[in-house]
Amino acid sequence: MVGSGGPAGRSWRLGAMSARTPVPPGSVRLCVHPALRFFLPRRGRDSGELDLPHDPTATVGHLIQSAGIPLTEVGDLLVAGVSTFWGSRLQERDRLDVGVRTRPQPLQGPALFLLDVHLGALARRLRLLGVDTAYQKEAEDEQLVEQAGRQDRVLLSRDRGLLMRRAPRRAAFVRGHYPDDQLADVIERFRPPLKPWSLCLACGGTLMPVSKDAVAHRLEPGTLRTIQQFSQCRACGHVYWHGAHDAKLQQVVRRYWAGRV
Ligand SMILES: [Zn+2]
Repeated sequence: MVGSGGPAGRSWRLGAMSARTPVPPGSVRLCVHPALRFFLPRRGRDSGELDLPHDPTATVGHLIQSAGIPLTEVGDLLVAGVSTFWGSRLQERDRLDVGVRTRPQPLQGPALFLLDVHLGALARRLRLLGVDTAYQKEAEDEQLVEQAGRQDRVLLSRDRGLLMRRAPRRAAFVRGHYPDDQLADVIERFRPPLKPWSLCLACGGTLMPVSKDAVAHRLEPGTLRTIQQFSQCRACGHVYWHGAHDAKLQQVVRRYWAGRV
């Protein structure tokens, strides 16, 4: 029946080709990459299309953020197949294709990260894999953005409002509700150099090998009997040995060695 021209055929084709329905007068249309659609308001989430009122003064960047998408997540931008940029403006009835950042994404600076306050479990995992990660339980948005800029760190957050309002230079939205998914997202996206068991999980300081004698007074008798190799944080003095981490974190490293992180 396809192409028959009958009423049933026509409606089927219209449904299948909704991407080509005309943009209504007074509007512009965002056509959003599937990997970014979860940011959109419900009405645009399935199709990835969102019609917005045409505002001749609004930049492309402003329109994308008004659809709920932080610019840190956006890749190529096309209007009628031609590349455009955040500061450009659309004509009435334009369609803007919004692409996603390609992965791996170049770090554009040192492999240093700063995590938003709600990402403590992710901070421990990143440190376990040897990724330099700054994290504090409490910090205002302003402090986070200031620290990220001063120390040239990538600010990681699940608060898209923070990413949109403050526009930090190096930043990313972390995908996933669970710390293991978040870790996989960050590692896959930025591919930072990894060196498991080299950083303190508590403060992010560097771990150095230390003799058993030097730390014996801080250890339980059972640990003293069974463990021979220790390391100590140069910043906070915390003592580590491989058996000291909980099973979940041990799994993280095993998955990394198996190439699955
Ligand atoms: Zn430490």
